[in-house]
Amino acid sequence: MQTTAIFGSHVVVPGEAGPSLLRDRWVLLEGDRIAAITTGRPAADIVSDRPGRMILPGLMNLHNHCFSEAVARSHSEDGNGRKNNQSIVYTVLLPLTKTGLEILSPDERMAVARLGILQLLKGGATTVMEPFRAGLTEMFDAAAEMGLRFYGAPYLFSTADAQAGADGVVHYAGDDGAAALAEWDGLHARWDGHADGRIRLAMSPHATDTCGPDLLRACAARARALGVPITTHLAQSQREVDTIRARYDGRTPAEYLDWLGLLGPDLLAAHCIACSDSDLALMAARDVTVLNCPRVFARAGTTAAFGRFAGHGLRTLVGTDGYNMDLLGEVNAASMISKVVAGRADVATSPALLDAVTARAAEAIARPDLGRIAVGMKADLTVVDMGHPHLQPFHDPLRALVALANRANIDEVYVDGHRRIAAGQLTGGDEAGIVAAGAAAIQKIWDLPEARAAFAG
Ligand SMILES: [Zn+2]
Repeated sequence: MQTTAIFGSHVVVPGEAGPSLLRDRWVLLEGDRIAAITTGRPAADIVSDRPGRMILPGLMNLHNHCFSEAVARSHSEDGNGRKNNQSIVYTVLLPLTKTGLEILSPDERMAVARLGILQLLKGGATTVMEPFRAGLTEMFDAAAEMGLRFYGAPYLFSTADAQAGADGVVHYAGDDGAAALAEWDGLHARWDGHADGRIRLAMSPHATDTCGPDLLRACAARARALGVPITTHLAQSQREVDTIRARYDGRTPAEYLDWLGLLGPDLLAAHCIACSDSDLALMAARDVTVLNCPRVFARAGTTAAFGRFAGHGLRTLVGTDGYNMDLLGEVNAASMISKVVAGRADVATSPALLDAVTARAAEAIARPDLGRIAVGMKADLTVVDMGHPHLQPFHDPLRALVALANRANIDEVYVDGHRRIAAGQLTGGDEAGIVAAGAAAIQKIWDLPEARAAFAG
């Protein structure tokens, strides 16, 4: 069994109330587990010994989209592609990613998947939950190949082609979703537990306005029979709230999910921007997890404040939603935006935010073996180089991490005891080749006439 010893000037361990710090410790990995935390240098096959680094539990990014974000990247900022400042999810992203999947070859889809996972690893993530169109099975292949711990979440829809009409409302013929569930079952049978258990599946009905009651009930029943987490997009916009109210007897999107039995500790609900305070109270009572992705909303001029959800007592995590897959940067944005919204500095604190992407995230997916540095835990670690000039000097390491650090400071990333990033670079892979192949594949989508029209002016 391979052993690795890593020296940390600071090591983040579980404390009484959130993360706590040890000075000058070695973390010893044996196989896929943390074997010891010592003051003396342990004997090991591989020794990583540099001063000035902080060892964190492997960061967990539980909401991301490698493919759809690659399609939108640098096209959708500054209001581009938005009609009347509305969301581009239904008008641009869903139709374009559907067509994009159809025109790319399996090799090209694999190239896009590799480029996304490269960014996730270099962003410090060891575990990622990624919803994607069920046809993009290359996400599983790339995650397995590159060694990420991966909760693939192939979408289920009550329609093969959800799009907003001219009125902005999502219309679809609708079906019971049986075909979508059969497709998901096939992927579960093929992939769940693959790559020494690093590959898992999550149940991922796309959103409240694209999934009818029959499909949502069936998803919940199937997920609970298998014990897999459920994730969905919830109350992404006021328009979604209006649509659900009109369709289902005045219910809000959260009430719609509660009516169908989905609100529970196994549900990870992304965004929740247009949830009312009473929706959030209901979700807190049901022990639902909120996935807060502040930067993708800030891009569109919309506030998504971590502190609002946490303030309702909700287990609130931070994810990147594909936009800029820098989890440390996202955590910084969550802190800043929450403070601005609250008009005070003592909300969304550094310990709370580090907890949100480690121990709390592990709790949300029922993984007591992840999210903490302690003997017996999975050997998933993110090592940050605190020696960079922009991090020096610092007095409080966690505040320095959240307020000042970003992905450029990620030094090493370990998943299951394997070093996937060393000195900030991918181990055992050609970064330049991955970037070139992924960008070329996305260019094919941007060259489509409908893409040029969608992103014009
Ligand atoms: Zn999303």
